[in-house]
Amino acid sequence: MRMRTTSTPNRSDSAAFLDPLAAIVGSRHVLTTPDDMAPALTDWRGRYRGRALAVVRPGSTAEVQALVRACLAAGVPMVPQGGNTGLCGGATPDESGRALVIQLGRLNRIRSLDACNHTLVAEAGCCLAAVQAAAREAGLSFPLSLASEGSCQIGGNLSTNAGGVQVLRYGTTRDLVLGIEAVLPNGECWDGLMAVRKNNTGYDLRHLLIGAEGTLGIITAAVLKLFPEPRTRVTAWLGLASPAAATRLLERLQQRFDAHLTAFELICPRALALVRRHIGAVPPLPDAPWHVLCELGDSDVAGALQTRVEAFFPESLAAGDIAEALLARSEGQRQALWRIRENISEAQKREGVSIKHDIALPVSRVPEFLDRIGPRLQQAFAGIRYVAFGHLGDGNLHFNLSMPDAGANAALVARQTEANRIVHDLVHELGGSIAAEHGLGQLKRDEIRRYKSPVELAAMQAIKQALDPAGLMNPGKVL
Ligand SMILES: Cc1cc2nc3c(=O)[nH]c(=O)nc-3n(C[C@H](O)[C@H](O)[C@H](O)COP(=O)(O)OP(=O)(O)OC[C@H]3O[C@@H](n4cnc5c(N)ncnc54)[C@H](O)[C@@H]3O)c2cc1C
Repeated sequence: MRMRTTSTPNRSDSAAFLDPLAAIVGSRHVLTTPDDMAPALTDWRGRYRGRALAVVRPGSTAEVQALVRACLAAGVPMVPQGGNTGLCGGATPDESGRALVIQLGRLNRIRSLDACNHTLVAEAGCCLAAVQAAAREAGLSFPLSLASEGSCQIGGNLSTNAGGVQVLRYGTTRDLVLGIEAVLPNGECWDGLMAVRKNNTGYDLRHLLIGAEGTLGIITAAVLKLFPEPRTRVTAWLGLASPAAATRLLERLQQRFDAHLTAFELICPRALALVRRHIGAVPPLPDAPWHVLCELGDSDVAGALQTRVEAFFPESLAAGDIAEALLARSEGQRQALWRIRENISEAQKREGVSIKHDIALPVSRVPEFLDRIGPRLQQAFAGIRYVAFGHLGDGNLHFNLSMPDAGANAALVARQTEANRIVHDLVHELGGSIAAEHGLGQLKRDEIRRYKSPVELAAMQAIKQALDPAGLMNPGKVL
């Protein structure tokens, strides 16, 4: 049976397609009522809302494969969904009601852990926090760390090439994956679960699927790299005069501590005011013009790192790089400092609508961006304010725009295209990326065409066409 592709399917078409799906995954894993489907049909920010034929929850790779084959035969678009914490609408179906949302959450087994090889095989639906816990139980660490780690899933992390707070030391998700198992758009299962660190055997499908946002296939499992668990962590909250002082400090910390530096987060005071207002947490160093939260780690317990860091900060104070420093003296204090940082997105969400950007620049150009963007925005939107925070160690900033009067924000958002143009053009001019770690989804699908070369866009289209000629795998996202 091939379903009509231009309009909402009628009831008998739907039943003819959906009934066999119940035989594949079990009828309680085919959700069709509006209430059951609702959480899957909108994104975390509530910005996108879609409709779907059904939400299905396969429990094994074989079931995913059977679902993909059924969709292929009927011409039904598929939307893979993990924890649904993505920030670009990548996991939300469109409004046609024709798509099947395939949730991976039941594929949640840790299949194996090889402590000697420092690897773990996790199914796509494993929650990131569960993978971190499994590694910890073996005395190791899986270093991908995001504020959404209690909800997001490994399949979603791979598909968005998630970043987070430890990229500086361990790289993005792409750097943490040795192998992948995936169901391709033609319904074939590719078992690429090799746990080797060297494998030069032609095109690397793994890297095509990572960051593809579900447009080239459904990831069902992955071989993840593990690392020794840092047994000493030194965490500091610093007050600084400017972003330029922060980049100077970062450079000095890297020269002195190299790979021990695991996180370096820049935070503007407005972001902290939001956390104070909406979360109730009281950030330290209230008078500082800018803030940095940084962390260093060591697998040695002897405390040598702590002593070296304690000697370093007075030098930085004397050199004028920092104005104030607060070192966490207990694990509880450390976690309290991180909670402030990790709650910024939630606080921003509770504050109300804003225009959000997720940009990357060469680290050295971040201060220039922040110096130049303010006047440009003021010229177009008098009184506009920005909240800037993020992973300065990677040159990645979250840069959100709003008006002082919350009532004026709807009008601001209506002019989003204009605001994006100002921000993204400057990012591009400074050699940066308009989508650092959240991906394109549907949010930046059209915007990226302005900044990627036609050569690169054509190559991406050709890859999509080769792997998904029917265009059924997460259509309308990325391309
Ligand atoms: C509070 C908060 C903080 C965040 N912080 C960060 C951060 O620091 N760094 C960062 O990078 N991101 C961050 N994010 C964004 C988000 O958590 C990540 O993008 C995460 O990797 C998404 O995982 P998910 O399982 O929720 O994926 P979903 O939102 O369910 O899906 C994301 C995309 O991946 C696709 N997909 C999902 N599973 C699969 C699969 N198995 N196979 C193929 N495609 C699939 C979907 O179709 C969609 O296109 C944050 C989000 C929130 C809400």
